[in-house]
Amino acid sequence: MVCSFCNENETEGWLKSYCVDCAMLKRMLVLHEPKKCVDILRRCLIRNENQISHKIKLELRTQDKELKTVTFEDDSSYIEPPTTRSKNK
Ligand SMILES: [Zn+2]
Repeated sequence: MVCSFCNENETEGWLKSYCVDCAMLKRMLVLHEPKKCVDILRRCLIRNENQISHKIKLELRTQDKELKTVTFEDDSSYIEPPTTRSKNK
């Protein structure tokens, strides 16, 4: 059965309606009262326009670096040019 909160993960068990993570979230909400938890999550997870554009730039930069690394590492088509020098010197 799929979790009825995130609709992504399998539930903890047959008779449970939440997955492990969502069940933990629910327990935390009960422990620390929802208002406080929402405030914390809002500060940490929900970003304003500036933060979003900054984050996108950062992600793109990281992605660009990864692409360069991948093409560099996976270049198996590279054929070493013949050399006249002996490698065993
Ligand atoms: Zn879930």
